[in-house]
Parts: sequence; structure tokens; C-alpha cells
Amino acid sequence: MLILMRPDIEPDGPELAAVLAHARNLPGVSAQVHHVVGATRSLIEVYLIGRTNAVPREAVEQLPGVERVVRISEKYRVLGRHQGQVEAVGFVYNGLTFDQESLHVFAGLCAVDSREHVEGMMSALQRAGVTTTRMGAYKPRTSPYDFQGFGRECLPYVFELAGKYGIRVVAMEIVHETQLDEIRAALEAAGRPTGVMLQIGTRNAQNFELLKYVGQQAEFPVLFKRGMGITLEESLNACEYIASEGNRNVVFCLRGVKTHLGDPHRNLVDFTHVPAVKRLTRMPVCVDPSHSVGKRERAPDGLLDLYHATAQGVIAGANMILVDFHPAPEKALCDGPQALLMDELPGFLADVRLVRECYEKRVALARA
Ligand code: PEP
Ligand code: MN
Repeated sequence: MLILMRPDIEPDGPELAAVLAHARNLPGVSAQVHHVVGATRSLIEVYLIGRTNAVPREAVEQLPGVERVVRISEKYRVLGRHQGQVEAVGFVYNGLTFDQESLHVFAGLCAVDSREHVEGMMSALQRAGVTTTRMGAYKPRTSPYDFQGFGRECLPYVFELAGKYGIRVVAMEIVHETQLDEIRAALEAAGRPTGVMLQIGTRNAQNFELLKYVGQQAEFPVLFKRGMGITLEESLNACEYIASEGNRNVVFCLRGVKTHLGDPHRNLVDFTHVPAVKRLTRMPVCVDPSHSVGKRERAPDGLLDLYHATAQGVIAGANMILVDFHPAPEKALCDGPQALLMDELPGFLADVRLVRECYEKRVALARA
């Protein structure tokens, strides 16, 4: 059972105390308090967990300061969009709003391979007016003999350059919990010039201990990439592992699913699930055309498949795009063949804007 407090209720006020006291008297029920800081409003939510079936809703609804009581299913308890819950709360991180309405392009290197390439990428982003990027330092690779990323060695110059070029958020994958501490220490040492969104890759989608670990901190938001060989429901449950530990600042990323039916693409593009995830949960939804399509093939109309896939995500209401670029893809140590070229950045962004405008017009049309 979810108790939504009125927006004017203070965390240390008598109303919340009364609700918690009421909960303490319910046998077999425990209460968890969540402070939700949204883009447009902040609120307190109280989750009653345990034997809540017998708890009369009306009695709770009549307590002072309670706006609404929602009976929630076991599914996606924290991140789900439950009956009567219309607002997609979202979050603000380092001055940027992430919710089901916003759109951010995180363009960058699949893997950091040299200071020169990081700088080339970031200066191109600055010229294009983009303040969000992706930079892989820890790479989960299929073969142990492949490049595994430069790890903490590269963090000092990545963060220094991010500060120099006005980057506000870097999406960076971690594959082990100690790497979160390395990132925090490197950011601190660099004077916190930028923010980091911790990426959980598809290969770790059900690494529950890692999910819990990133859920136990709220300093960094989390970009969760859908498991490539599990159901959507299983991936959404994995996000609940993060949120149920306390961190609800989670963005859900579609990146294609593994099946030979996706050929000739690297994965079967699953961007029609954007509206489905937005309906089932309150998370912002990201699409990753690079890891879905996996190659630079061009359709007869002149557009790269990568552009077409991106457009399919954006026209369906995606809130974030994670896309690989590289100043010299032939020299990239990871995923060079799927990278867009630096001089394609302005055209790519213009294409995204065009499709986004069209999406906004579609929404207006549907509401009219
Ligand atoms: C990546 O984004 O670099 C990556 C490894 O993606 P995924 O986990 O989706 O394969
Ligand atoms: Mn990659």
C-alpha cells in the first residue's frame, strides 16, 4: 500500500509522524518512507509492506496530511505506475531534469582509448551545444583477451576534460562495486567538475548484488540497460532492486535483444517498447541505437540505419539517446564499426530535433 502525502507536508512534521505511528499499530506491516524530489514538485511517499490486504484504506486516507492511498500490486512497487498515480516523478541531477517528458542526447565514446580522443569528442560536443556524454572506462567484454577499458587510470583526464568542455553528466558503466568508489574518489580529486550517471550494462542486468549496491547510494543516478536475453518484466524487476534499496533515480535503457531474428543488425531493435515502459513505470526511457544496430549500413534513402533506429525511439517518446561517436573509429579499441563520425554530429542532432518536433505534434494531436 502506498500513501502519498500532500506536497506541503514536512519530513519532520506531525502528519508524517502520525502516519508512521498508525503503521506501527498494524500487525505484520512495516513502513518505508521515500522522499521524492521531482522536477516540478517534491513529495513524501510512505510504503506499507507486509500484510496490507487487511488494512482498511479509508482509515489511512482520513489521517491528516494524506493526499491519497493507492493499493499497489507486488509488481514494480517503487518504480511502477500504479492505479491513480499519474505523475511521472523524474529527478534533477547536476542541473538537468530527467523525466518522461525530457530528451537528452548522450553522445560519446564507447570506450575511452586516449586523452586525445576524449578531448576531440568533448570539444565537438561543446561546439554542438551538448552537455551530456558517454565514456566507457570499465568495459565488459565477451572475450577475456579483448580490451577491458583503461579503468581508473583514465578517470582523472576524463573528468578534467569534462569540466573544461562544460559536460554536466557522463554516463559511465561499472561492472564491479569497487569502481563506484574509484569514480567517486576521482571526481573528488578533480574538484567535482561534472556529474556521473552509473551505467549497468546488459550483461549485469541480473547481477543483483551490484544492483543493490548502486541502489544503496543516491549520489549518482543509474542508467539500467535492459537484459539482452531476459523478458522486459525481468528487466523491470531488476530496476526495482535498485529502487527498493533507496535510489529511485533510474533511467531505463532499451538496447535491443539478442536473437538471430534481428539480423542483419547486432540486436533486434526493441524501441516500440518505449511507450510500454512509460506506461508500466515512471522511469524516463533511453534508447541506444548503437548497440542495437551495431553497424554503419545505409538505407537506399541515404540515411544510416543508426539514424532510422534513433528516430524510431524518439518518435515513440524516448527521453534519452545513448549513442557512440568516435573521432577515428578505425583506431577505436571497442565498437569502432558502429560509431558515428565526428562531422556527423550536427546532422545527427538536427535529425533528432526534427523527429522530436514531430513527436510533440503527435502528442498535441492526440490530446486535442
Ligand atoms: C555499452 O553501452 O558500452 C555497452 C556495453 O552496452 P550494453 O551493455 O548494452 O551491451
Ligand atoms: Mn560498446
